[in-house]
Amino acid sequence: MTRLASNRTTKEPDLTATFRRKLIRWFATHRRDLPWRRYVSPYSVWISEIMLQQTVVKTVIPFFERWLGRFPDIAAIASADEREVLTLWEGLGYYGRARNILRSARLIVQQHGGRLPDSYNTLRELPGIGECTAAAIMSLAFGKSYPVVDANARRVVSRILALRGLDRPLEEQVKTFLGQAMPPRKAGQFNEAIMELGQTVCLSRGPLCESCPLKTLCFAFRKNLQDQIPSKTASSTIQKRSILLLLISDGRIMARRKESGIFAGLWLLPTIPDNGRTKTAISTFIGRDFKAEISPLPALELRTHHYTRYAHRLKPIVYDVTGKGVRPADGWRWLRLAEIYSYPFPSAYRRILDELRVAQR
Ligand code: SF4
Repeated sequence: MTRLASNRTTKEPDLTATFRRKLIRWFATHRRDLPWRRYVSPYSVWISEIMLQQTVVKTVIPFFERWLGRFPDIAAIASADEREVLTLWEGLGYYGRARNILRSARLIVQQHGGRLPDSYNTLRELPGIGECTAAAIMSLAFGKSYPVVDANARRVVSRILALRGLDRPLEEQVKTFLGQAMPPRKAGQFNEAIMELGQTVCLSRGPLCESCPLKTLCFAFRKNLQDQIPSKTASSTIQKRSILLLLISDGRIMARRKESGIFAGLWLLPTIPDNGRTKTAISTFIGRDFKAEISPLPALELRTHHYTRYAHRLKPIVYDVTGKGVRPADGWRWLRLAEIYSYPFPSAYRRILDELRVAQR
């Protein structure tokens, strides 16, 4: 349930107008020069908004530039190969986003003449386009009054109005406030401004209130409640421990393409439980009746890979496998190490493969 910590309401006569004026004035002088702002199109807004989901601006910039260089328009993506799309996305994480862009691009070509629809409801029907992304495209690309309620906007407004809670009513209150404050002809600029303020000033930890253009309006600042608003979600990390097997045979490495789950479309290396039965487990990958020699090579460093809610401790062990009957079990393949860069791998595996290539020189 949403509670207002103060007696404030979004109906205060001057609040939304003052908020709008101060925010837009601040943005006019603090707007960052970002690649997706240099040439704004529905396509560039769409791609940048998807890339910016759960990812900071600094990380996104080189990916966005590479992407636009390789796929300058929707037709270019629609005709692309999934492997290439995922390889280009490698390192950005949450690969479902890239798969959804590809699916959406193909639908846009088939059903919308290759142009992103300028209707909120039609945009929402495309894979991977949620409320925030649809609102961002409608306002930034088409100038329509749709408030973007992303984590940044939610944090800023929650603090200004002293809203506590995490639920849907809070989301609606934020949206109502933003809808009232939004200037009709500057919807895109207003949305960008509030997201920018959340990214650079009203930070989730240690907000820079002294430099904030909204501090005179902000209830959380006045009452020193910034650390308590917005309420925090309880999130628990799931710990996993595995051995990562780097099985090398005649200049090739064993890998498998994942067909489903968060890594669908990516290639993975064999992993086994870290329980001391490594050699027995290897036979499940190269066949039980093989006559092969398995020789350990220098291992790589232990590391912990964080993704979604997982902290996955990986111990990469390298084996050279030679002899008769060295054939992969179902679904596994030998990939030539020299061609490994044309296959998409999760970034943690890619770093390990890079280290392996250096170690083998
Ligand atoms: S005064 Fe501080 S808490 Fe309030 S909106 Fe500005 S940065 Fe955020």
